Amino acid sequence: MFTTQQYVVASSLDEAYALNQKPRATVLGGCGWLKMGRRAIGTAIDLSALGLDRIEEFDDRFELGAMVTLRQIETSEALAAAFGPCLRESVRHIVGVQFRNCATIGGSIWGRFGFSDPLTCLTALGASVRLHHAGLVPLSEFIRMDYDRDLLVAVVLPKAGQRAVYLTHRATQTDFPVLAAAVCRRADGTYCAAVGARPQRAALVEDTEGLLAGGVTDASARAFADFAADRLTFSSNLRGSAEFRRHLCRVLVRRAAIQLEEGQA
Ligand SMILES: Cc1cc2nc3c(=O)[nH]c(=O)nc-3n(C[C@H](O)[C@H](O)[C@H](O)COP(=O)(O)OP(=O)(O)OC[C@H]3O[C@@H](n4cnc5c(N)ncnc54)[C@H](O)[C@@H]3O)c2cc1C
Repeated sequence: MFTTQQYVVASSLDEAYALNQKPRATVLGGCGWLKMGRRAIGTAIDLSALGLDRIEEFDDRFELGAMVTLRQIETSEALAAAFGPCLRESVRHIVGVQFRNCATIGGSIWGRFGFSDPLTCLTALGASVRLHHAGLVPLSEFIRMDYDRDLLVAVVLPKAGQRAVYLTHRATQTDFPVLAAAVCRRADGTYCAAVGARPQRAALVEDTEGLLAGGVTDASARAFADFAADRLTFSSNLRGSAEFRRHLCRVLVRRAAIQLEEGQA
């Protein structure tokens, strides 16, 4: 459990951002991850009074406020109508309902955890993050950025007719994923795959060879899965070897592409 010298409920994003520039300041999400550590926090910054706990739908996008919980994403009918079950699928294995009622999308995405399920799915769907200081940054770029003292205000998800299927392999139901994969088809017919828990952070592979352009068949799905597995790096840890992960990548990307074609998105 962490300790803190000062606890401030921020009354504006500017105030939260200014407080966060102090050396030992820490923004609080749902504290699910923070409470696992022993951080000695100087100023703990609570964002819960800033109205960031809403999923807002606009003509061209959704905005998921930083304090939206994983459970809100799991149960959102609007997100399911727009993108199918992929987002629900990307959070439903995480610990349990009580935990998902607390863990926030802001803390999950800011953490840029290698094992992150929602980071993998949202990357495939072409999401961006709105940072208070840096502005709108595509997730595929944000993933590679170092931690700094900015604030994550919202995840911005374009409504561009994209559909994705999200699959993971887990040793047991609520454990961290051994590998996570999402395949996305965009409205213009192009495809990409995001693969996470390699165990490094999610990485995006575009179908630059047009392997799926002529339609998804067992052969073209297999070719795209092999293409993705050959382009990504994998490593070993206690959950699995690099070799097993590369094999899982071939299996999950192929299955996800086929399920997309079968309309399971
Ligand atoms: C036991 C356990 C098992 C888990 N299993 C999985 C799993 O299988 N799959 C998966 O994807 N995830 C898993 N997670 C991670 C979890 O889903 C959340 O991502 C994690 O708890 C962080 O979310 P939080 O709201 O609790 O953030 P916090 O713990 O409050 O914060 C996490 C970090 O983000 C920073 N932060 C929070 N909000 C902001 C913001 N708005 N702007 C800037 N910085 C911010 C905090 O300062 C902190 O450094 C697991 C976590 C635990 C504890």
